[in-house]
Amino acid sequence: MSDFVVAVDGPAGSGKSSVCREAAKRLGFGYLDTGAGYRAFTLHAKDLDLEKALATFDYQTSTDPENFWVRLLGQDVTESIRTQEVAERVSLYAKELGVRNLQRQDARSRILACSFPGVIVEGRDITSVVAPDAAVRVLLTASEEVRLIRRSGDSTETPSNQLARDESDSKVAEFLDPLPGVKLIDTTDLSFEQSVAALVEEIDRFRG
Ligand code: C5P
Repeated sequence: MSDFVVAVDGPAGSGKSSVCREAAKRLGFGYLDTGAGYRAFTLHAKDLDLEKALATFDYQTSTDPENFWVRLLGQDVTESIRTQEVAERVSLYAKELGVRNLQRQDARSRILACSFPGVIVEGRDITSVVAPDAAVRVLLTASEEVRLIRRSGDSTETPSNQLARDESDSKVAEFLDPLPGVKLIDTTDLSFEQSVAALVEEIDRFRG
């Protein structure tokens, strides 16, 4: 079990996933991408009604930042959860309380089961709901313009969908402004390397 939890929230294109994963590698920590669970659910629920999808969802993910994978019903979906089609539909499911409760419980179990000395958990509701008592709580953000530019380089998602997803997601989770006690790291003017360094520095402030 990891007893040192780092909770990181932020909008799409903030660089959260790549920054958190790299910081976890450098610190020898585990890494949990909670968005991958919502994306896997979106794939799973495609041809099912919601009740049936919730009852039959069987998803696994690694917490090793050096070897990240996602499986749905035993099949590898690490790449197929990143399509435009999934990006267009994921927020619809993220609005459903049944889905959120399942994902939140799942994330908490994975945090408990993680065997690294610490774990960086990233998503939209981690600092607020999944792990409000985390040792370190960070909101990683960047200006809208920079987020759109960053995503255009490494994503199949259209800019308009990215903005619509943030708009919809922000109605069910608080991740645009930091809650009390949450450190804001604005990466608008930071390189990738500087963003990783800023996160590692914040984590180091709380490590013994
Ligand atoms: O982080 P990522 O862009 O992969 O997240 C995909 C989607 O999953 C988000 O747009 C949001 O709808 C949902 N999500 C969420 N809460 C989280 C993580 C992701 O609602 N903690």
